[in-house]
Amino acid sequence: METARHMGIRSVAVYSDADATSRHVSKADEAHHIGPSPATQSYLDADKVLAAAKASGARAVHPGYGFLSENAAFAEACEAAGIIFVGPPPSAIRAMGEKHAAKALMVTSGVPVVPGYHEENQDDAVLRKAADEIGYPVLIKATSGGGGKGMRRVNKGDEFADALAGARREGKNSFGDDRVLIEKYLEIPRHIEVQVFADNHGNAVYLFERDCSLQRRHQKVIEEAPAPDLSPDIRKAMGEAAVKAALAIGYRGAGTIEFIVDVSNGLADAPFYFMEMNTRLQVEHPVTELITGVDLVEWQLRVAAGEPLPLRQEELSITGHALEVRIYAENPDKGFLPSTGRLKRLRFPAAGPHVRIDTGVEEGDEVTPFYDPMIAKLIVWDEDRTRALRRLRRALQQTEVVGVKTNTAFLARIAVNEDFASANLDTGFIERHIAELVPEPGAAPVRALAIAALAVLLDRADEAAFNAHGNGDPTSPWHQVHGWRMNDDGHDEIKLVDAEEIVAIPVRYVTGGYELTIADKTLIVNGELEDEDRIVANIDGVRIVATVLLDDGGVTVIDAGHVHQIGIFDVLAAAEVDDAGTGGVVAPLPGKVVAVLTEAGASVDKGTPLMIVEAMKMEHTITAPADGVVDEIHFEIGDAVDEGTVLVAFSVAED
Ligand code: ADP
Ligand code: ADP
Ligand code: MG
Repeated sequence: METARHMGIRSVAVYSDADATSRHVSKADEAHHIGPSPATQSYLDADKVLAAAKASGARAVHPGYGFLSENAAFAEACEAAGIIFVGPPPSAIRAMGEKHAAKALMVTSGVPVVPGYHEENQDDAVLRKAADEIGYPVLIKATSGGGGKGMRRVNKGDEFADALAGARREGKNSFGDDRVLIEKYLEIPRHIEVQVFADNHGNAVYLFERDCSLQRRHQKVIEEAPAPDLSPDIRKAMGEAAVKAALAIGYRGAGTIEFIVDVSNGLADAPFYFMEMNTRLQVEHPVTELITGVDLVEWQLRVAAGEPLPLRQEELSITGHALEVRIYAENPDKGFLPSTGRLKRLRFPAAGPHVRIDTGVEEGDEVTPFYDPMIAKLIVWDEDRTRALRRLRRALQQTEVVGVKTNTAFLARIAVNEDFASANLDTGFIERHIAELVPEPGAAPVRALAIAALAVLLDRADEAAFNAHGNGDPTSPWHQVHGWRMNDDGHDEIKLVDAEEIVAIPVRYVTGGYELTIADKTLIVNGELEDEDRIVANIDGVRIVATVLLDDGGVTVIDAGHVHQIGIFDVLAAAEVDDAGTGGVVAPLPGKVVAVLTEAGASVDKGTPLMIVEAMKMEHTITAPADGVVDEIHFEIGDAVDEGTVLVAFSVAED
């Protein structure tokens, strides 16, 4: 929409119930409601999107990078309605839509593909024989898969049958297609993809590559451009192979050819193989924009309008280095489970030539369970990778998200990792470093507790001053909060709750502030609460500016990008907690039941899968919390469940 505005083009948004007040709605010149929150009844309903396009008189539809963006039938429907689909011809989407057919096509076009089996025959024995011939480990992939779903690694022949069944099931459930293909599993690969662009006049160029090797469960987490240490020769070879692939299918517009690069013997002469083509603009396109200076959306709109590509291959070049991190509403401490809630605070570093923020939400918005849990993309640029990485670390420190759990601390740990800094990358990076990237949640540092305690003290003092002011007797002793006691120093105690422990902090009121004792350390602190939830604190002579959010239950301290949720101990609330024991297994987040794997009366071991709930594009397996018996199952397939709902009544076995 921003690009459209620069080009003098009006934009029309569509929105579901959940998005009625979303950022994209307020950014558009006009917005049309197209249905309820579930995507199948709104954003994935081609008829509704098209009806809105017609009603608004739109001449073109930009499909974004999710939902219907790779849907050939939708692209056809647009064309039939005389509306331009900003994307490739439907035939090109179809040619690349099924991974096995795409690979077969690439083989005939002379583009290297990972050794494997891409035939139609789906006979168990045929597939098994193919796997044996390829040699283990192999990777089974759902033909229509995407987003890392429907993939199974198989290490040896006797694991094959189970893995095949799993990949088929996931393919069937997620994409309505249980066909698979088999590939040699590369042990140490990098994911390097090439941005291509083609017009209607026979021109096609590549806008260099992006390295997306930083992945978790085959999903991208950090992307960068150019790929670190890639030689100009390989860059050119990959770029030309990508253009060849695009031309082979009569491509038009923006597309990405994903390659997998076998770096087990280093990157210098590493073989690269075609993996798949994404026939749309991609989530990570900003890194390409920052190193090439090209607005890819502008090119998309120009090409859709029939113009030739604005630049030729020789006119394109790489300037500097860009990194993108995907900030998700998810909880790394709980297996990266998506997190929903209201964004009580959402602050990013100021945008400028070095920092770009792409986000669909604003402070106060709700992260709902209906869509992908991505909150924002934070993109940085500088002259080289080392400098860009420094920008990234700083930008993450200035990012403040409160209200949902996020992966920002996880991203920040990657950004300071030495292997990452020396570009020691492959797709196994995150898994290999997971212990340092997701450390056991521990106690908050003394500094954060001191800031929290100080915030509570200053808040009380402010409140007392306010009351005294309105009371007519500002000097009344009842409005004093200095803990005065007869025959003693003024003292008090603040009880905070951190990592489920009560932290009692003795406070003495001394000249120049408060003396706090935390973890046997005595600190002199003072400071002031300022606007915008800022606190200026002086802790033992060190001046710190941090963010504090005080509410009924506690205080959130954000210190250099690290969010610490600290409770304020409340005797009354504490008494209630004990009653909350559960006699069942609860939904970890709102979603839809997609499988029931047990039955009433079943005796199960701890960890046995009981139910699968789908939410935010992911499946979550609900398992037995202990050895015990399933008393009753409260939901069936298709039911919607709220967070905290008891799914299965469960009795723990007594021993
Ligand atoms: P990429 O490799 O570019 O991340 P994905 O196939 O994972 O591609 O999806 C691209 C984007 O499309 C997602 O990050 C998300 O923003 C959007 N998207 C796709 N499907 C859905 C969905 N069912 N609900 C919400 N967003 C979706
Ligand atoms: P999706 O459609 O889900 O994006 P891809 O085929 O693009 O599926 O693969 C996603 C990711 O899985 C890749 O980025 C890579 O990390 C991993 N992967 C894919 N193929 C292989 C392979 N043959 N060997 C090892 N890893 C692979
Ligand atoms: Mg992919």
